[in-house]
Amino acid sequence: MKVLKFGGTSVGSAQRMKDVAKLITGDRNIVVLSAMSGTTNSLVEIADYLYKKNPDGASEVINQLAMKYDRHVEELYRTEEYKRKAKELIASHFDYIRTFTKDLFTLFEEKVVLAQGELISTGLMNLYLNESGIRSVLISALDYMRTDKNAEPDPVYIKEKLSRLLDEHKEADLYITQGYICRNAYGEIDNLQRGGSDYSASLIGAAIHAGEIQIWTDIDGMHNNDPRIVENTSPVRHLHFEEAAELAYFGAKILHPTCILPAKLNNIPVRLLNTLQPDAPGTLISNTTEKGKIKAVAAKDHITAIKIKSGRMLLATGFLRKVFEIFENYQTPIDMVTTSEVGVSCTIDNRKHLEEIVDDLKKYGTVTVDEDLVIVCVVGDLEWENVGFEASIVHALKDIPVRMISYGGSNYNVSLLVKSSDKEKALQTLSNYLFNN
Ligand code: ASP
Ligand code: MG
Repeated sequence: MKVLKFGGTSVGSAQRMKDVAKLITGDRNIVVLSAMSGTTNSLVEIADYLYKKNPDGASEVINQLAMKYDRHVEELYRTEEYKRKAKELIASHFDYIRTFTKDLFTLFEEKVVLAQGELISTGLMNLYLNESGIRSVLISALDYMRTDKNAEPDPVYIKEKLSRLLDEHKEADLYITQGYICRNAYGEIDNLQRGGSDYSASLIGAAIHAGEIQIWTDIDGMHNNDPRIVENTSPVRHLHFEEAAELAYFGAKILHPTCILPAKLNNIPVRLLNTLQPDAPGTLISNTTEKGKIKAVAAKDHITAIKIKSGRMLLATGFLRKVFEIFENYQTPIDMVTTSEVGVSCTIDNRKHLEEIVDDLKKYGTVTVDEDLVIVCVVGDLEWENVGFEASIVHALKDIPVRMISYGGSNYNVSLLVKSSDKEKALQTLSNYLFNN
């Protein structure tokens, strides 16, 4: 069994849904779908109006969205019977969403509204497959996908419930289910955060010990640099999970970083594929390393660096703990760290508590803040005993001021911190130097 996940744009129109249907047949695969593109954003907008107690604003967005789905139904189905079924399905979801314009609106209602996008897209796809004579079965993620009291997925529950649901439908040619949505420890409707469908696919793959998890998007795998910025990028055919994790976290939009861990722990390969070019090999992510190769570069924007300099750090113990504790107190993750005997620099991308953090850090030393920076992350076989790789990365950037360099945290990456205004140049030079020579 495989898990095949299709994102919002891949199911974003009637034609795209028909194309997806051709890719998923056979093998009792599990197909995970996002909401049709734009839908979750509209649902967020509806929720926003309702929080602001503006039911008319919400109704306007609801009506527009409903109209979009009516047109979609006309194009997707051949027979009157299935058009009717699809219209009923859509009406029931939109009637439900409209009930929320009348009452108190809280986080709980918001989660329910946000869940409708995936419930609709999977319902429509399942009807389309049935109309085409395929025995697909719709399995609701709300019946098996669950988080625990710490809002972390509960793999034991997921595995047990999902196996039982699949066993109940052994006759199926394939299964359709929703990405993103789940229930929390209290049984309430919840979700795995924006972009969480990749995470769903990985959790499902782990639960059923899938042969492979396929993430289908609109580009031929992970590229070796950002194709929006850099000329002559090319797809990377093979990545180690750790390389993919760095790239996904540091800027490659193609894969959500949460998707990596369940697949990695269960040793299930993840393949990134392209719906527009289904025969292209894409990118295979697994637990094997390609020796002696630098693979790719990615960049993460809007980074702030904070330096704490202190004579007290010299020969002292516990200094770093105190510094890190301050970031923890404000729930602010640190991305990069570099140290010297008299100071430490950290980077953050969430600036919400920057002022308080700086204020607290002043207890321990002189604090300076540099803003508008970018982390450039280079991944590959960067095991420390290899020679020459870190040198060529640094050499490529010889004309660009570098604020921090981090190497040796893993066997797979070097991260460098540069000014936003140097981002394009840094990415292009690295590509020229590392890949196009
Ligand atoms: N539909 C959700 C979102 O737009 C989840 C996903 O697409 O992965 O964030
Ligand atoms: Mg996505």
